[in-house]
Amino acid sequence: MTLTHELHTNAYQTALSQYNRATRHLHDIDDNIIEFMRYPRREFSVNFPVRRDDGRVEMFTGYRVHHSTVLGPSKGGIRFDRMVTMDEVRALAMWMTWKCSLVGLPYGGAKGGVIVDPRSLSTSEHERLTRRFASELIPLISPHSDIPAPDMGTTSQHMAWIMDTYSMTMGYSVPAIVTGKPLVIGGSQGRTVSTGRGAVTIMMEALRRRGVMDASNTRVAIQGFGNVGSNAAAYAYENGFKVVAVSDINGGIYDPNGLDIPSVMEHMTITGSVINFPGADSVTNEELLELPCDVLMPCALEGQITQHNADRVQASMVVEGANGPTTPEGDDIMNERGIMIVPDILANSGGVIVSYFEWVQDLQSFSWDETEIFRQLERIMIRAYDLTVRTSEEHAIDLRTAAQVAAIKRVADAMKTRGFYP
Ligand code: NAD
Repeated sequence: MTLTHELHTNAYQTALSQYNRATRHLHDIDDNIIEFMRYPRREFSVNFPVRRDDGRVEMFTGYRVHHSTVLGPSKGGIRFDRMVTMDEVRALAMWMTWKCSLVGLPYGGAKGGVIVDPRSLSTSEHERLTRRFASELIPLISPHSDIPAPDMGTTSQHMAWIMDTYSMTMGYSVPAIVTGKPLVIGGSQGRTVSTGRGAVTIMMEALRRRGVMDASNTRVAIQGFGNVGSNAAAYAYENGFKVVAVSDINGGIYDPNGLDIPSVMEHMTITGSVINFPGADSVTNEELLELPCDVLMPCALEGQITQHNADRVQASMVVEGANGPTTPEGDDIMNERGIMIVPDILANSGGVIVSYFEWVQDLQSFSWDETEIFRQLERIMIRAYDLTVRTSEEHAIDLRTAAQVAAIKRVADAMKTRGFYP
């Protein structure tokens, strides 16, 4: 746990170090703009009370950071996790700015978090905590200024509570205040599966361009079996890939012949975890990263592939479903070893892309069907992949730096056009 904590507090260092690497390749951008983009625009910290089921009142701490509003309203998830820190939220907000920019959405980046173990709360405690945090956020959020979404530890139900709290305060229903909502209150078709599905879409595109066509002989190991990991596993399985390992916070399971993912899902629904799945070997989360496989998809938390284990990664491709799973030192080692890293801001952008579709549908009160959502999702992701590869070839740099170069350039161009106020 100490290690995880240390890595968490370093996420912002990782984000800044990546930024410094990328901006070295952006010679024609004004230094003032480079300096401006390094800073979060505003940061909010709040301590608030929540009544527990036994009548006790407990204090919680939450954060919301708007990194940038240059391209439009800020957008980003809300995380419930024991290890949330302001630095972690700063890093995640900055990555949201680059992600939205890379895929061409009219959004800046934001993120929020509450320091809480989501497993320690009952459903009604989740509801009271979420509603109180949402009411504390009201001065910062609106459909035109900052639009939250789910992240680690939060689900579509949390978004429903935020939407209701905001709507009750306004006096009318405001579906566009959050994305990732249930369908019945203005959610979008495809949003739940979009991040995992998008990551696998990008993985398939990267494999295709490498000439790897045989899914049934391609072994995929996935760390994390939440929204991103489980939907990535399901879509990879559906497309014929051999998903050899998956994990959650309790540990992982491994079967070199491939796991039956629908059965793992069922096991998860019944037992609450992937561990003890019949017929599979047990592995730790650390061991999973080093298993024999072709594609490794870290889909849990940041700081997982570092200078301590990057030399033992056996995959030839890493597709980052999580935000910030690889440290700069991990990047250096894997780049040196010729392992292709498909970076987070590209690989997991499916979530914010379909969130954007949800927001547009809510603002227009007009909904699209699932076929249209997936068609547009794929179009935007492949376009961003092309832009990343082109930038990588143009500057002779790795895909992460290339994705950030392309993203930062777009924000810088917009900032140059808008000018510094006043
Ligand atoms: P989730 O809460 O649905 O799932 C998280 C998974 O990670 C669970 O399986 C959990 O058991 C596991 N986990 C938690 N702590 C762990 C630990 N210490 N060690 C090992 N496993 C642990 O969260 P999610 O929405 O799937 O998000 C996962 C990652 O993907 C995060 O980095 C998040 O920021 C990123 N992401 C999510 C979305 C989205 O749409 N949900 C979009 C883009 C990026």
